[in-house]
Amino acid sequence: MKVMKVDIRSEFKDGEKVKALELKIKRDIERFGSEVYIMEFCGGHTHSIMKYGIDELLKGYVKFVHGPGCPVCVMPMQRIDLAIELAKLPNTVLCTYGDLLRVPGSSRKSLLSLRSEGYNVRVVYSCLDTLKIAQENPEKEVIFFAIGFETTTPQTAVLIKKAKALGLKNLSVVSNHVITPAAIQHILNSPEMRQIGKVKIDAFIGPGHVSVIIGTRPYHYFAEEFQKPVVISGFEPVDVMQSVYMIIRQILEKRAVVENQYTRFVSYEGNLKAQKLVSEVFELRKEFEWRGLGIVPYSALKINKFYKDFDAENKFSVDLPKPKEHPACICGKVIRGVALPTDCKLFGNVCTPSNPIGSCMVSSEGACAAYFKYKNM
Ligand code: SF4
Repeated sequence: MKVMKVDIRSEFKDGEKVKALELKIKRDIERFGSEVYIMEFCGGHTHSIMKYGIDELLKGYVKFVHGPGCPVCVMPMQRIDLAIELAKLPNTVLCTYGDLLRVPGSSRKSLLSLRSEGYNVRVVYSCLDTLKIAQENPEKEVIFFAIGFETTTPQTAVLIKKAKALGLKNLSVVSNHVITPAAIQHILNSPEMRQIGKVKIDAFIGPGHVSVIIGTRPYHYFAEEFQKPVVISGFEPVDVMQSVYMIIRQILEKRAVVENQYTRFVSYEGNLKAQKLVSEVFELRKEFEWRGLGIVPYSALKINKFYKDFDAENKFSVDLPKPKEHPACICGKVIRGVALPTDCKLFGNVCTPSNPIGSCMVSSEGACAAYFKYKNM
C-alpha cells in the first residue's frame, strides 16, 4: 500500500486560512472598538509574527507586545560571568548550548572569546553529550551550564540521574532553568502594569513548547486572578492567527480563561513523566534574577539535596565581579514589553547579530534579533 506523506505544517501555513482569519479578526475588533494589546511571551512567537508579517497584517487592530522571549534573553549578566569564571578554572571543560556562546559578560568577553583564548569551552547539541565528555576525560572537571525554560529541564534531570547511576565524580551542572508562569505573574504584578499603566496588555499568547511539558493548567490561576485571556499557541502563521482570533472572541464575550490552540501537542496536564523527572532532581529556588524583570520569587530551579554532588554551584566557588550592563542597552525594557528594539539607539548600528551588545540580539529567539532579521534593518 502506498503511504501518502502529509506535511502537517503546510496546513498551518495556508494563506487562504490566514486571509479568512484576518477578516474575522478585523471584523470583531471593529465591533470591539479599539486596538487590542497582546503579549507573546515566547521568542518563537515573536519570530513567527515578524517572519510572516502578522504584525503588519493586523496593524491598527492588534499591537503585539514582546515578552521575555527566551532563556538566553532573560539570563542576567552575572550568570554569564559565572559561566566565564567557571570556564577559566584549571583543568575544566565547560559545556553549554550554542546560543549562549556569544552572549557578552560584564567584561565584554563571551564564552566564544574565551574559547579562542584556549579555554576548553564546548558546544553540545544534547546535554547528554556531556556524559561521554566526562567519561573520556576522567582527569578533568566537566561542567554543564544548563539553560532553558521548562522545555529543556527534563533532559537536564535525565543527565543528572544518569551521571549518578554511572557514578561519575567529574561531572556537575549549573542549573539556570527558569519557570514561565512565575515570570508572567511577575509581569502582571509589575508597577508599569498595575500602577503606572505604562504597558497595556489585554491578553497573552502563551508559550507552545513550554506548555507541552507543563500543560495548560499552571496558567489558569492568573487568567482568573488578573482577568486576562491566555491562549496557548503553535508557531505557524495559521496557529498565531487562530490564537489571536480566540483571544478577540474572549474579549468580546467578556471572558478571561485559558484556551489551547496548540491541541496537537499540548494537553491540560502536560507531560507527566517529564514533570516527575524534574521533581525528582530539582527544587524551587526562593528567588532568581531575570534580566529585565529583576528578582522573581520562585521562578527557577536548583538541584535538590539528593543530587547535590552534581551541583556545580555547590562544588565550586568563584568570585564574581559586580556586573555592569552597557549603559545604552535597553534589553531589560524590551523584555518587559516597555520598549521596542528600535527604541534602542544602538540597534542596527553598534548592536547587530554579528556584534551583539545585549542578550536580545544574541539569541536566535531574541526580539532585537527578530527585528534585525525581518524588519530589513
Ligand atoms: Fe540591547 Fe542591542 Fe537590543 Fe539595544 S539592540 S536593546 S543594545 S540587544
